[in-house]
Amino acid sequence: MTTRIGTTVLGYPRIGPDRELKKAVEAYWAGRIDETTLQETAARLRTTTVDELRAAGLDTVPSNTFSFYDQMLDTTVLFGALPKRFTDLGLSPLDTYFAAARGVQEAPALEMTKWFDTNYHYLVPELGPDTCFALSGTKPLDEYREANSETRPVLVGPLTYLLLSKPTTEGFDPLRLLDQLLVAYTELFAQLHQAGVQWVQLDEPAFAGDRTDRELQLLSYAYRVLGGLTLRPKVLVAGYFGKLGKALGVLARSPIEALAVDLVTDPSEVDAVAAEGALRDKEVVAGVVDGRNIWRVDIDAALSKAATLLGTAGQVGVSTSCSLLHVPYDVEREDLGRVSEWLAFARQKVGEVVLIGRALREDVDLTQARAATKSRATAKDLVDDRVRARLRALRPEHTRRPPYAQRAAAQQKTLRLPALPSTTIGSFPQTAEVRKARAAHRAGKLGDDDYRAAMHAEIDKVVRLQEDLGLDVLVHGEPERNDMVQYFAEQLTGFAATEFGWVQSYGSRCVRPPILYGDVSRPAPMTVEWARYAQALTGKPVKGMLTGPATILAWSFVRDDQPLGETARQVALAIRDEVHDLESAGIRIIQVDEPALRELLPLRAAEHEAYFAWAVDSFRLATSGISDSTQIHTHMCYSEFGEVLPAIDALDADVTSIEATRSKMEVLADLSSAGFGRGVGPGVYDIHSPRVPTIDEVTGLLRTAIGAVPPERVWVNPDCGLKTRGYAEVEPALRNLVAAAHHVRAEL
Ligand code: GLN
Ligand code: ZN
Repeated sequence: MTTRIGTTVLGYPRIGPDRELKKAVEAYWAGRIDETTLQETAARLRTTTVDELRAAGLDTVPSNTFSFYDQMLDTTVLFGALPKRFTDLGLSPLDTYFAAARGVQEAPALEMTKWFDTNYHYLVPELGPDTCFALSGTKPLDEYREANSETRPVLVGPLTYLLLSKPTTEGFDPLRLLDQLLVAYTELFAQLHQAGVQWVQLDEPAFAGDRTDRELQLLSYAYRVLGGLTLRPKVLVAGYFGKLGKALGVLARSPIEALAVDLVTDPSEVDAVAAEGALRDKEVVAGVVDGRNIWRVDIDAALSKAATLLGTAGQVGVSTSCSLLHVPYDVEREDLGRVSEWLAFARQKVGEVVLIGRALREDVDLTQARAATKSRATAKDLVDDRVRARLRALRPEHTRRPPYAQRAAAQQKTLRLPALPSTTIGSFPQTAEVRKARAAHRAGKLGDDDYRAAMHAEIDKVVRLQEDLGLDVLVHGEPERNDMVQYFAEQLTGFAATEFGWVQSYGSRCVRPPILYGDVSRPAPMTVEWARYAQALTGKPVKGMLTGPATILAWSFVRDDQPLGETARQVALAIRDEVHDLESAGIRIIQVDEPALRELLPLRAAEHEAYFAWAVDSFRLATSGISDSTQIHTHMCYSEFGEVLPAIDALDADVTSIEATRSKMEVLADLSSAGFGRGVGPGVYDIHSPRVPTIDEVTGLLRTAIGAVPPERVWVNPDCGLKTRGYAEVEPALRNLVAAAHHVRAEL
């Protein structure tokens, strides 16, 4: 009988140490394997995970952390809430599930969006007045039974589920479905109880963000209902990705048995939890090992946090701050020299949790665990005095350019662009030959000269195509880039790259974030040769192409031994060096992409200002100190800009290209009301779809655009880069885009 949680983790990676699940799922989609084979692979991954966690010495182990695609979608299916457009397809349950995840011709997929402030994406439930929840699956039960030992099924909590869904009809509030949903949970709880389940875990990360009083009341209500059931397992509620605020008191006073708190994200949370008297009869599971970053735990700091709670809580358990879904499997497989010593991936983090649990109970030798923290804190190669001196010498004028009007006039004089200038966002389709050349070069099978020749040939082709299409501002096409962050990380000091460090981004898609471990600098130019080569091929301006500091941080694992803003400014200095070198090489337009500006936005509004301060400051540091006539562009995508609009304005870029096709240019009105008064290129071609937009469609969008913004400030461009598309679509689409620009230009 498991009476307490003890040491545990809130969740674990599921894609497989060698991305077995990704490969199997994709093989199934391609028709190369059948469902039985896919299910076998999945079952093997699940049992291996449970067995390994058990063997590592955790007191309790989670289950139902597996997913073929996403845990929110699993919940939607479990409670029978898939939209009819999928259930009417007449497919098998598994194919219906994948249809909802990926879409089929007759039924577009569920919308996908970011899971809080992580890089993971979930499928958004569509709920409306006719939604009828009914327990319709046995996944949690099946995975419990499949395991060789007692496990704790993990479920998305009812409030978080409803708060993350979107209404199918305007004005409908999904929270109205709470009672119905609780009935379905009740039935599930009874089933689990009957099967012998001791504990369930309900995840409520939505309460790490700002919530209304009504939402907090409903949280209280829901857990009074669930806690009041007689036929149920014990309940652990997990709140993570930040401090719980008012929800802490609400949950502490609910009739649940345990509460997992994140003591990593916000340092003040440990005091808030320690001060919460109502936890006296509960087990508090202290999330002291960072579930989202890859640094080894500071064992003394973690122990002291957990020990602080010993006086308050009925019992103290130990865990990760959130699910380990967000970190790679095993650092032992990497060859990163010294840096490896400082890292803990999922497997190592489990070991840390076990060790902290033991150290709370008995005397344990912590010398070895302390050594890593010490070695990192004293490592000389983390510190670059030159970088630090440069940062100290910075003055406000290093982040300021003269007024926009003055710059715009100087730029028009040298660039002589027509009204409604047309351009692209940077990348052109990454053909099989380009990928092959890059891979061969990386593997040492293609020499530097041959590689350069292959890239030059590609740039020749892309420049010729753009001239033929009649675009006004050209790009070199980014054939040399595997990824817009990794490309730079590989050339900057202070970064390490992993070989197996894959993390699920969505469905079968994984990313391998670089590790930013030390002071950052740029030993040599990173993009100048490619830009210079492209510019020499044409009389039209070629736009240089860089990634901004916030995006580089958002898509890396970042050092946690100094404030993010400090690290961002180091990255900004490196980009600034590149901007200056591009300018000296005769590049007159430079784009610094910040598609992830929104991604790092803290969950609580009170922290937004501090975030914007460093995010904006580092962008401006990267893009100032240049001639007025050098034009700075930036680019954003992934819609929903709402709270970041004032920051977009504050970046002070001369031109901002922004995703807008799907929202039908709505973002322009929002930008104007945020006071934005510089150049803007609302996307007029949705690059997420293989569809080729017609001239009429683009013309219509452009007319809307010049209705919202004075035409002399409007640019014409796609929503994002073209690297995932094929030439067969891109060529006609861009041809239509240019034709539409000419059309509307003639009407001015
Ligand atoms: N310049 C990049 C490209 O065109 C921008 C990518 C992005 O915004 N995600 O691919
Ligand atoms: Zn983009």
